[in-house]
Amino acid sequence: MSQPIIQIKNLTKTFVNGDRITSVLKDITLNIEEGDFVALVGRSGAGKSTLLYQMSLLDMPTSGEVIIDGVLTNELSNDERTDFRLYNLGYVFQDYAIIPELTALENVALPLLMQGLSREAAFARASKTLGDIGLGDRLDNLPSGLSGGQQQRVSIARALVHEPKILFADEPTANLDSESGELVMNLFLELNSRGQTIVLVTHEEEYARQAKQVIRLSDGEIVK
Ligand code: ADP
Repeated sequence: MSQPIIQIKNLTKTFVNGDRITSVLKDITLNIEEGDFVALVGRSGAGKSTLLYQMSLLDMPTSGEVIIDGVLTNELSNDERTDFRLYNLGYVFQDYAIIPELTALENVALPLLMQGLSREAAFARASKTLGDIGLGDRLDNLPSGLSGGQQQRVSIARALVHEPKILFADEPTANLDSESGELVMNLFLELNSRGQTIVLVTHEEEYARQAKQVIRLSDGEIVK
């Protein structure tokens, strides 16, 4: 069997604020296979977002290993981590985190421009990705001219445009009405059926049930 695309070994994360020490993740070990669709669930404060941050290299663990696609990411320099994310990972935030001054097309082209693609090539690919996601007629809209669901789809297009090995999403439906939320979830299911590896944080059990694997966190630990 090929190696898991994500291997987390004995990961801990502790925050220190003055003399206050918060142990948020306690000895997490898990594997995620390529092509999996994992739902990370648990109560508010269980450590889901913190774990997603460590897996997606947005943050560094206090101890333990994060191995992605065979790369021991703990050993990367800051620049190498940034590049690793830029080429291999996509991330969708609960609040979309798209840039209000840029059009949908410009927002989605950004990761490709950061990779050094020409404007022409970046805009062509961004346009195709937005088209694939049903926003082909919204390319020149600013985020303020889009609904919440459309803004989230722009952020998903931005996370996918460079064809990442793994798509991470942190409560992507939390700010959406149920219809837009279902649209986003169906989009993830379709992407996964075409082979996209997805790690989704959600507190909505009905979405979690549709994933291939559910990992439940409680008080910083995995519970079965
Ligand atoms: P979840 O996503 O499951 O709601 P989080 O990962 O956001 O949980 O947070 C887990 C715990 O870690 C919470 O108690 C939170 O207050 C704490 N926490 C998260 N980030 C920090 C930080 N930067 N400093 C101190 N505590 C933090």
